Amino acid sequence: MNDFIKYCQEIVRIPSISGQEKAVAELIQARMKSLGYDQAWIDEKGNVLGLIEGKGDRTIMLDGHMDTVGVGDTTAWTVDPFCGTMDKGRIYGRGTSDMKCALMAMVYGAADLIPQKEVLGGRVLVAGTVCEEEFEGVAQGHILDRFSPDLVIIGEASELTVKIGQRGRAEVVVETYGRSAHSSNPSAGINAVKKMTQLLSAIESMILSEDASLGAAIIEVTDIRSEPYPGTSVIPSYCRATLDRRTLPGETEETVLASIQKIINDLTAQDPEFSSKVYLAQAKQMCYTGDSIEAKRFFPAWRFEVETPFVQNALSALKAAGIPTGISFTAFAPMAAKAPDSEEFPLWGSAHPEKILPMWQMNLLRLINCKRHESGTGQLQPMPWPNFEYQNH
Ligand SMILES: [Zn+2]
Repeated sequence: MNDFIKYCQEIVRIPSISGQEKAVAELIQARMKSLGYDQAWIDEKGNVLGLIEGKGDRTIMLDGHMDTVGVGDTTAWTVDPFCGTMDKGRIYGRGTSDMKCALMAMVYGAADLIPQKEVLGGRVLVAGTVCEEEFEGVAQGHILDRFSPDLVIIGEASELTVKIGQRGRAEVVVETYGRSAHSSNPSAGINAVKKMTQLLSAIESMILSEDASLGAAIIEVTDIRSEPYPGTSVIPSYCRATLDRRTLPGETEETVLASIQKIINDLTAQDPEFSSKVYLAQAKQMCYTGDSIEAKRFFPAWRFEVETPFVQNALSALKAAGIPTGISFTAFAPMAAKAPDSEEFPLWGSAHPEKILPMWQMNLLRLINCKRHESGTGQLQPMPWPNFEYQNH
């Protein structure tokens, strides 16, 4: 156990902003090997993966990202952001709670299953993913596509609650097109910025749906630019704006775009000079391996019902383990974004939860954001757990 805390500190001491996770991946791979994983390797994107083989054909994936955001102004920190110091039960440093130590807890927690792997009903895959802070869910999706796990548990901080839903996110781009002219004679041109203000104002008045648990859907402009820029004495011929759209369960890529396309169609019907286009932003991120990840920026919303058996099982087992818990929802957790992409990849359960062995479920409890140990009497007890904390975030 001392070893575990030591490596939590060690992993915080290694800077790993998105695209620069190599040293952290190698540290985790080495830990997996020494802890006795059947396999530990790094894939072409730079994700680190460890496998513990059981006897069944089911796969559970424990998932955490290795990258962190930057440290910003280092003079605003009261400690070195990479000190990894432990003080009064708290570890300090960038990425401590988001989410290097949770990932290390999963690496060690899964290793607890190794002595019992002959009776495990499946295999345990532990994944440390890259580039999540910059490009959420995509590196993780690469692993999901390859292994099709029955269950995915994500170790993002949840204050030990069981998070069963979140809003989705779409990055929507709108463009308007005009015709350039000298601004001393505006009637000779078509002002793309003016067309954009019309479009944004119509988008602003859209009525979006609401969800009792997750709140309201949102659409918000996050940037805008025109061309030519700077536009001294010229009517802009092009304007582009980005919209941050927070979605609710049931909203798809198609429905999100269709609602804006309808506004464009209406404006075009009223004004023959109105010309516009809407689409989802596409992004590409380089990985430290030299490979890249690329995808549209659309991450669907999802929600499980409180009554769902695996939610209830998790709650009652956490309670039995003496861990204060409850249900909660999250506004947007990047790591979960890709997981519920289809019914086969629920965040917090199995497509066939009734088929999971009770013992399997029991063991899973040891991996949820915490780690326990068996007392001398053989009775399961919660272990003293440091409050992981990081500053200036
Ligand atoms: Zn995170």
